[in-house]
Amino acid sequence: MRIVLIGPPGSGKGTQSKRIAKRLDIQHISSGALFRIAVLAGSTLGKAAESYMKEGLLVPDDLATGIVAERIKQSICENGFVLDGFPRNLTQAQALDSDLDRINKPIQQLFVIEVGDAEVVARITGRRIDPETGNIYHNKFDPAPDEIKSRLVQRADDTEETVKKRLAEYYKETFPIISFYEGKGIIQKISGLGKPEIVENRLLEKLK
Ligand code: AMP
Repeated sequence: MRIVLIGPPGSGKGTQSKRIAKRLDIQHISSGALFRIAVLAGSTLGKAAESYMKEGLLVPDDLATGIVAERIKQSICENGFVLDGFPRNLTQAQALDSDLDRINKPIQQLFVIEVGDAEVVARITGRRIDPETGNIYHNKFDPAPDEIKSRLVQRADDTEETVKKRLAEYYKETFPIISFYEGKGIIQKISGLGKPEIVENRLLEKLK
């Protein structure tokens, strides 16, 4: 299976991609996570991406396309993958499609997870990460156990100001790829409201 999940920041696409990948035993590929790893490692790629990420702006297309293409080529992706956060604009969608067409393995399903702006801001500004496990919590909606609360961190781009920029980027850059894929008949839209297991069930019902 080759699946793409798109949605505004905070729509739960990361959580859902991980769940679907686990259930179908395919790879979860998150371009944002690949960039965050590169930033932490201090690699040339990480240094190039860092300032864009902090600002809530898209990293240049050649870097994003390159980092994802490299991962897709790896043998662990042979059974399939769920792409999370990529493609993020039309240029990336076209690059991905021509790469996959070349190996005769096109994207088969694309899910758009829909969540309103106010919900996005509330979700993201309360999001906290446990650096030791990578688990994600929320101050209000999913509080962490007391004993680990002091070690939780906030992603540098999870502030209200940056979220608003990321939302604007989503509508300007990412939203148009929906019409690009609509012509291919592979799009399904689902509501991202409710608990993760409820959203996952909505996705699974539509999974072919
Ligand atoms: P995410 O974890 O998907 O919210 O991504 C975090 C940040 O990484 C984004 O705000 C961008 O700066 C960068 N990023 C992730 N994926 C892409 C992409 N496909 N194209 C450009 N920038 C990206």
